[in-house]
Amino acid sequence: MSEEKIYDLIIVGGGPAGLSAAIYASRAKLDTLVLEKNFVGGQMANTDIIENYPGFPDGVSGSDLVSRMEEQAEKFGAEIDFADIEGIEVDGAVKRLRTSEGDYLSRALIIATGTEQRKLGVKGEAEFTGRGVSYCAVCDGAFYTDKVIAVVGGGNSAVEEAVYLTNFASKVYLIHRRDSLRAEKLLQERLFANEKIEVVWNSVVTEIKGDKFVEAVSIKNLLSGEVKDLAVSGVFVYVGVVPNSQVFRGVLELDEWGYIRTNEEMETSVDGVFAAGDVRTSVLKQVITAAAEGAIAATFAEKYVREQVYFDQNISSGKRVVVVYSSITDEGREIVKCMSELEASNVIAIDGYKNSRISKKLNVEKFSAVRIFDNGKEVFSKDGVAVHEIVNMLKEQGIV
Ligand code: NAP
Repeated sequence: MSEEKIYDLIIVGGGPAGLSAAIYASRAKLDTLVLEKNFVGGQMANTDIIENYPGFPDGVSGSDLVSRMEEQAEKFGAEIDFADIEGIEVDGAVKRLRTSEGDYLSRALIIATGTEQRKLGVKGEAEFTGRGVSYCAVCDGAFYTDKVIAVVGGGNSAVEEAVYLTNFASKVYLIHRRDSLRAEKLLQERLFANEKIEVVWNSVVTEIKGDKFVEAVSIKNLLSGEVKDLAVSGVFVYVGVVPNSQVFRGVLELDEWGYIRTNEEMETSVDGVFAAGDVRTSVLKQVITAAAEGAIAATFAEKYVREQVYFDQNISSGKRVVVVYSSITDEGREIVKCMSELEASNVIAIDGYKNSRISKKLNVEKFSAVRIFDNGKEVFSKDGVAVHEIVNMLKEQGIV
């Protein structure tokens, strides 16, 4: 990786949101890089079967869908690289990502870092991770063939994975802290119909015990207060997720749970930085919504980059006058007419009403506004200028 290279767009995270954004951006001819920390696909890659993604009536395995999305993104020219983000600098027109592999530069960013699974936070959990405690049924399920195991949680993930794990285990306890499940009804029906599964209601895990490997979980019944041990060889933890947004704290606006806030165009609180998928504040976190958000983010990132590049290129050399007007006023319409009659190639007229980003960038407070640039440097600035004044000003400056 060369530090000099400036990408049009860097997408941080290679899950369904990131890959979908990469497909849209690279197809739109943006020089696009996907930066992934671990492996492409995110949580989708660890999903056995996805049944609700349109177009696959018999379901599709998560890893298959990942491969197809990755192939599609690369077909259109997106690059995929691996690095862990350590910090971002977003003040200027070029954004800088500080990573484990050095710095990466880009005109726009899409953050699609997703979520990671929440930990139980009980004694033994960290100690036995990889030795009986798992967060990935697809990765580790086969190790528990004919064994008794526990799944913790009551959401879609816990219920879906408990059912999946019965392909291997002889018995699965589903330990849930309440007396009803959060998971959708169809999944609950499958769970209750499965004879290998026993639901342990109103209970929480207080400790995971064992010697070299997990041998038991201590559970506490929240109604009776009774504590007892269940003999199990494995514990699969599915108690929700937390957003991978820590590194953006203090830079991007986050909600109270740490998800990145955006508007409908997936723009974050920082110009040129977009977010998509599970890491974003949203009402539904599914593969299809992540993919859709990736498409939206890429579409508006492309618009941002094109405007940015067009603008920067146009003011970068010689003397350039930028006139920012509003197309919904009579005066604005008069300016358009006047500018086309003047036919001055070094005058750029921008509709600030439609192009609010450029207005903001130029600190326009009142239309019409005039800015003069000399080799990219702003040398004159005035707001609320009348048409005849603009023409006089151009004449005085020797521009027309
Ligand atoms: P989730 O829906 O937030 O459910 C988390 C579950 O863990 C809840 O039942 C919660 O109990 C329980 N829990 C939370 N903290 C706990 C703790 N400290 N101790 C014990 N139990 C605890 O999370 P998820 O199932 O991982 O799903 C995450 C997102 O992915 C959701 O939006 C989900 O819809 C989506 N997803 C969708 C599918 C699908 O459509 N097929 C599959 C998987 C995931 P309470 O119920 O009491 O709060």
